[in-house]
Amino acid sequence: MIEVRSDLTFLSGYHSPQVDVEVRLNTNESPLPPPQAFVDDLAARLHDIKWNRYPDRTATALRSAVAERHQRDPGGVFLANGSNEVLQTVALTYAGTGRTVVCFEPGYQMHAQIARVSGATVATLDRRSDFTLDPGAVREFLASTDPSVVFLTSPNNPTGMSEPIEMVDLILDSCGALLVVDEAYAEFGRWSAIPMIADDRPLVVSRTFSKTWSMAAARLGYLVGPEAIVANLWNTVLPYHLDSVTQLAGLVALSHVEEMDQRVASIVSERERLTTRLDALGARVVPSDANFVLFSPRGGNASATWSSLVSRGVLVRDCSNWRGLSGWLRVTVGTPSENDRFIEALKESRNG
Ligand SMILES: *Cc1c(COP(=O)(O)O)cnc(C)c1O
Repeated sequence: MIEVRSDLTFLSGYHSPQVDVEVRLNTNESPLPPPQAFVDDLAARLHDIKWNRYPDRTATALRSAVAERHQRDPGGVFLANGSNEVLQTVALTYAGTGRTVVCFEPGYQMHAQIARVSGATVATLDRRSDFTLDPGAVREFLASTDPSVVFLTSPNNPTGMSEPIEMVDLILDSCGALLVVDEAYAEFGRWSAIPMIADDRPLVVSRTFSKTWSMAAARLGYLVGPEAIVANLWNTVLPYHLDSVTQLAGLVALSHVEEMDQRVASIVSERERLTTRLDALGARVVPSDANFVLFSPRGGNASATWSSLVSRGVLVRDCSNWRGLSGWLRVTVGTPSENDRFIEALKESRNG
């Protein structure tokens, strides 16, 4: 039998266990469906799709709407099927065989996987035990590894922490790499690198509709960056990669910004409530700027707590066998009642 590429034998895939439980707080989706007005709007406009024709190859209308949202030019916006495909296109264009990609751990596991699938070598720098990056260590690491691409996630997944904004300049000043700031959770956070984008800086920012926009099912993500870089991404990606339905869904979503902002606000307030409750239960909690919270249950036996929660119908993410995360679990902020169920289940599992 033909064998898989020898540099891909490491791949065990990327799987968040999909256990069938009532309360699913493991993949950082929105706990709520999109607003009904969005669904009705989209359903009505599906009639206009020209099904026999290929989609608009560069998604002109959606690109303009995204550009307008961020006060950029449409030429500086790239779109794809989820931000994972955005990141993959970046890796295919700027990483690949013979090049190095830098990732920071703990971090989003897909960055390293996407880089390796592109053929690149991955160099990983560990965060300090408080999950922050040591600026001096970052500078040295970048100088010695000389990467083509650096992935930085802010707010970071799975820690939930925002990076200090100075880290963007520090990385850009330390090497000649393309810096990709993954802002999958930026709507819940404090700052964005988008205003720092300029034609002469190798800085791009990726965003997704999967979290804030309650649209994980549609697979839509985008990137904002200098036009020259964005043009290269459009050259690499497959023709007609973004189908007409997804383009339309994104466009319709962007006409419901107010509802989305309200959801973000309510998730942020639930996040704060969850943090307080976890704290009161004696867990170690990392203050989060995202829609999830990393915590270490009292006693530190994360895997036992994970199983005990599952047996009570609550699924969270067990991060305890990830590098640097022994003892830690990640819970996505759910609806108030889901969060109550989680807290109750955690209390019960603590009592035996
Ligand atoms: C969820 C997530 C994504 C989103 O991926 P999509 O492909 O857009 O669903 C990207 N980056 C990070 C850090 C994430 O946590």
